[in-house]
Amino acid sequence: MDDHLWLPYSQMKTAMKPLRVASTSGSRITLDDGRVLIDGIASWWTACHGYNHPHIAACVSRQLAAMPHVMFGGLTHAPAEQLAARLAALLPGDLDRVFFSDSGSVSVEVAIKMATQYWLNRGVRDRHRLIAFHGGYHGDTLGTMAVCDPEEGMHSLFAGVLPRHHLCRLPTDEASHAVFDAFLDRHAHEVAAILIEPLVQGAGGMRFHAASVLSRLRASADRHGVLLILDEVFTGFGRTGTLFACEQAGIVPDIITLSKALTGGTMGLAATVARRHVFEAFWNDDPSAALMHGPTFMANPLACAAANASLDLFEREDRLGQAAVIADQLAAELEPCRALPSVLDVRVRGAIGVVQLTLPVDLDGLKRRLVAAGVWVRPFRDIVYLTPALTIDTASLSRLTAAITAALSSTSAA
Ligand code: PLP
Repeated sequence: MDDHLWLPYSQMKTAMKPLRVASTSGSRITLDDGRVLIDGIASWWTACHGYNHPHIAACVSRQLAAMPHVMFGGLTHAPAEQLAARLAALLPGDLDRVFFSDSGSVSVEVAIKMATQYWLNRGVRDRHRLIAFHGGYHGDTLGTMAVCDPEEGMHSLFAGVLPRHHLCRLPTDEASHAVFDAFLDRHAHEVAAILIEPLVQGAGGMRFHAASVLSRLRASADRHGVLLILDEVFTGFGRTGTLFACEQAGIVPDIITLSKALTGGTMGLAATVARRHVFEAFWNDDPSAALMHGPTFMANPLACAAANASLDLFEREDRLGQAAVIADQLAAELEPCRALPSVLDVRVRGAIGVVQLTLPVDLDGLKRRLVAAGVWVRPFRDIVYLTPALTIDTASLSRLTAAITAALSSTSAA
């Protein structure tokens, strides 16, 4: 093991030795030792067009020659202006004011800050709590840890030092919606916003909910005058079958967060996009009503160029059609896993295929068998999932589903 790196989510003393990557291309990861793995998770859901897409590479190279970076305070540039205008045109309703940052967690932090200050700027001092949901995940920073699932979100150690918000059960039927509405009746006076990952709660356990859950939440938020924030850091850009998950519910959130596939997996960039009425709460002669946030690498021109190129590809190539084909193939090819004794559930939503295991299983052994089969998949807890590039070919996807099926067939308890 390298003596200087500190790896994510790893007990460095006991973790499996990480694999060293030499290069990437399409849905392939080539290791230093020459082995080639098919990537089943598109580098944490970012590389939606596959790795090293030539159009993105060309646009980033052109931008690199012109201006790799310039500060965004008091200055702006064409790649950011273009990208903001394109996002505003693609997003539903009047979500048209774009605040850039550099990671998904920070985009959620900004959304929380925006929602809280929205009320302060309107002279309402008590609305400083968020409602988030069990099973949710919104990032690893202190602010976002406070709105993750308290037990499953990897952050229970920090419970004592985090801001206190309301963590509710996600209402999914008449009875639980009634409970949720009763909760809002009691607490809306202190609530700035409801925060949810729409359609799929990803890192918290790949749990799916119906689009109607979101329309009911929109209605509840409206009834109680609370803002609705959708965290589309994972679901944005085609992953659930539509460009944005909120389209399936026909709702417009007050604030939406985007990252991950925004640059086609090329580099870090995130956006927090607000509706007009949210922006208007900050439009004031009073300097203290301004949004006091500004990451140094905000709207980095290279990242904006990559994101603009990624949007070109969504326009030119049928990514949503590809997501639909992937969904059908995942459903057909993962279904046999359901019969395995180590498997509790199999589910597919858009280009997301999930096999949920009966706990506990030997995860390290499972990971080793998957790599030995020539695939890169990263199971966590009781979840083995596939979120491939939307451009993956049928044969490569079949190799991924076959590797998972074979590995789970020989999986024993931990
Ligand atoms: N929100 C959601 C829904 C996510 O899935 C993630 C990361 O997985 C984040 C926020 C945090 O993003 P980042 O890791 O870029 O900070």
